[in-house]
Amino acid sequence: MSFESLGLRAELLRAVSENGYSVPTPIQQQAIPLILDGQDLMGGAQTGTGKTAGFTLPLLQRLMASNKQGNGRRAIRALVLTPTRELAAQVGESVETYGKYLPLRSTVIFGGVNINPQKQKLRNGIDILVATPGRLLDHVGQKTIDLSQVDILVLDEADRMLDMGFIHDIRKVLALLPKQKQTLLFSATFSEDIKRLASGLLKSPALIEVARRNTAAESVTQLVHPVDKGRKRELLSLLIGSNNWQQVLVFTRTKHGANRLSEQLIGDGIHSAAIHGNKSQGARTKALADFKAGRVRVLVATDIAARGLDIDQLPHVVNFELPNVPEDYVHRIGRTGRAGNEGEAMSLVCVDELKLLRDIERLLKREIPKEIVEGFTPDPTIKAEPIKNGRGRQQQGRKKPSHGGNNRRSSSPSGNSRSYGQSNNSNRSGNRARRSA
Ligand code: AMP
Repeated sequence: MSFESLGLRAELLRAVSENGYSVPTPIQQQAIPLILDGQDLMGGAQTGTGKTAGFTLPLLQRLMASNKQGNGRRAIRALVLTPTRELAAQVGESVETYGKYLPLRSTVIFGGVNINPQKQKLRNGIDILVATPGRLLDHVGQKTIDLSQVDILVLDEADRMLDMGFIHDIRKVLALLPKQKQTLLFSATFSEDIKRLASGLLKSPALIEVARRNTAAESVTQLVHPVDKGRKRELLSLLIGSNNWQQVLVFTRTKHGANRLSEQLIGDGIHSAAIHGNKSQGARTKALADFKAGRVRVLVATDIAARGLDIDQLPHVVNFELPNVPEDYVHRIGRTGRAGNEGEAMSLVCVDELKLLRDIERLLKREIPKEIVEGFTPDPTIKAEPIKNGRGRQQQGRKKPSHGGNNRRSSSPSGNSRSYGQSNNSNRSGNRARRSA
């Protein structure tokens, strides 16, 4: 399916194609025709699914179709409410990007910044307003805003707005809007509170749901660095140091592996801490706080420890070892590239893990690019060994950790000698490593 086939106007198609999108994401395919049709919509979708373009493109088109600006001042005809400043800013950027070739004006208002420039923008007249609820109500209180002409209301990340205690603010805003309007509600989850909000607000909404679970966020650049197991730590230190990464979340498969790697990184002069299930909540919280504050540069975590922790918007996630369960890969890399930030997810993959990599690629329905870092070409004589440290099982027969040098083995219990599927040219990371070394 193409964007053209969705019935979008030429100005929007041009902006979309300039932005490098060729195929609409599943939520775009479903939401755009429904919204163009004027229907209310309840969308189950998170950041990373392309939902912003999914509502912004048809919203712009509908505003153009009912352009009232001929007769006098502009009025706010579309209102997008978001829980956070970051999301408001991101949605605002999307509106600008996709509306680049349309004569519509938009602005973003949120708290924590001077209100006066916002007032000036509102006075100048805008068609589309993206706002967080609190600051929006400040403007209402100061009578610097008129919401009586709103034709389209979008509640973005409605569940987060409720979690953040915005329900009263939202209700106050809703009371100021015309009864007759199109309402689009997006939420990652549908709790009873969300359903209650929706039932009073949406008129026979179309329901669409797309899972993020198995669809890795588009803003995350994924890369596999094939490397021998015994040289992973060396490669990780090189990547961190030469690229000057300051905040890296690294995943290992086991608690022991997390501890050991963290100690080795400290030995390499890289501030690091490990979090895993054997550590107390207090120790985990401290490690996380130190990581967020920049006192710890690398946080080494197991999947279970990382789950439920509020680690968000990270620039770099490294899979020091691939997870045994492919879905965990999606969870792991979902830690980066959030809220519109670009993220990088790298996986250091040794020959033992090629099957795990294949399973992940099958789940993602695409291949992850592979690049060999110069000087780290895997030794082809090393044969795959079974991974013995499955989740929840005791590790058995683990070999003494190798420090640095090639971990050559000749026996091959599984006889696995699959290739990594990519030539060993020097590459992006190698170049980067050299460039900044
Ligand atoms: P969102 O879920 O709206 O936060 O979007 C996630 C990311 O996907 C953003 O970086 C968008 O720029 C990108 N994106 C949105 N639609 C498409 C598309 N059709 N093709 C490729 N990338 C897209």
